[in-house]
Amino acid sequence: MILAVSALSPSANFGLGYRGRFAPSPTGPLHSGSLATALGSWLDARAHDGRWLVRIEDVDLPRCKPKAAEFILGQLQACGLHWDEDVLYQSQRTSAYEAALQQLFQTGLVYSCTCTRQHILNAIEAQGITPNRHQELIYPGTCRPALLLARNFGAELLNLALPVTWRIALNSTDLQQSVGDFVLRRADGFFTYQMAVVVDDAAQNITHIVRGADLASNTARQIYLQTALNYPMPQYQHLPLVLDAQGEKLSKQTLALAIHTENTTLSLQALQQAAHHLGLSNLSNDSHYTIAEWLLVATQAWREQKI
Ligand SMILES: [Zn+2]
Repeated sequence: MILAVSALSPSANFGLGYRGRFAPSPTGPLHSGSLATALGSWLDARAHDGRWLVRIEDVDLPRCKPKAAEFILGQLQACGLHWDEDVLYQSQRTSAYEAALQQLFQTGLVYSCTCTRQHILNAIEAQGITPNRHQELIYPGTCRPALLLARNFGAELLNLALPVTWRIALNSTDLQQSVGDFVLRRADGFFTYQMAVVVDDAAQNITHIVRGADLASNTARQIYLQTALNYPMPQYQHLPLVLDAQGEKLSKQTLALAIHTENTTLSLQALQQAAHHLGLSNLSNDSHYTIAEWLLVATQAWREQKI
C-alpha cells in the first residue's frame, strides 16, 4: 500500500525511501557550477532509486529576476533532469514559515532585534574585534534580553506586523561564536534562507541533501533549527565547488557564463562538463549518446564511484 503523504505538512518519512532535491535561486540562468550541483543531486537520487524534487528558492524576492525560474526549469528539462513532483516555490510558502516561527516562539527561543547593521558593527568593534569585510557579521547578542520578555509575556509579543528582525537564540557556545543568534525573519518581512530551507526540506520529506560545498557552513544552523522544530534530520553531502581559472567560486557574481542548452548537442556537452567537475572523469565524452542514454551511463558511474 502506498501511503498518501501531504507534500506540504512536515511529517515523518514513513518508508518513503530516498528523497532528494535541487533548490536553485532564480537570480539568473544555470551556470556550470549550478548544473554540476543539479546533476550531482539528480544522479544520487537516481542511483538510490529515489525521488528528485525541485524547489525554487525565491524567498528573497527582491533578489530574484523575472522569468529566471522558468528559464532554469527549461534548462533542467533540456538536460533530461526531470523532477518527480510539483515544483515548490518559496514565495508561496509564507504561511508555513510563519507557523514555524510561531512554533519556535512558543519554545522561548525567538526574540526581536532592532539593531541596524551599523549597530552590530559598533557592538562587535567595541569588543575589540575587527570583522572581516567579506564575512557575515556574527551577531553579538545585543537584543538577547528581549528573550526574557518574550518568555514572560508569551505569544502575543510575536507581532509579525512589527518592522523588527526576529532572531533565534543559540544554546551552544560553539554556535554562538561561529554564527551568532541568526535571523529567521528580516525587518522587511522576508524570511531568511535558513528558515525557509529547513521548513521546506521537512515539508517535502527530504531525506538526502546533496549540494555545493559553499553551503556547508549553513549545515549547523539548519540542524539546530530542525532540532528546535522537532523535524527529522536529513543526510548532507557537499559537492566540490566549480572554480574559475583564478580559483574563485563560479557564481552569478563572478559573471559565470550560463550553460547552453539550445540543442541536444550543447546540453550533452554541458552535462559532460558537469560530470567532469563532479569527478566522474571516466565517463566517455562521446557525442553519439542521446541525453537519456548518457544519464543512464552516468548514473551507473555514480553508483560505482560514490555509493
Ligand atoms: Zn539587536
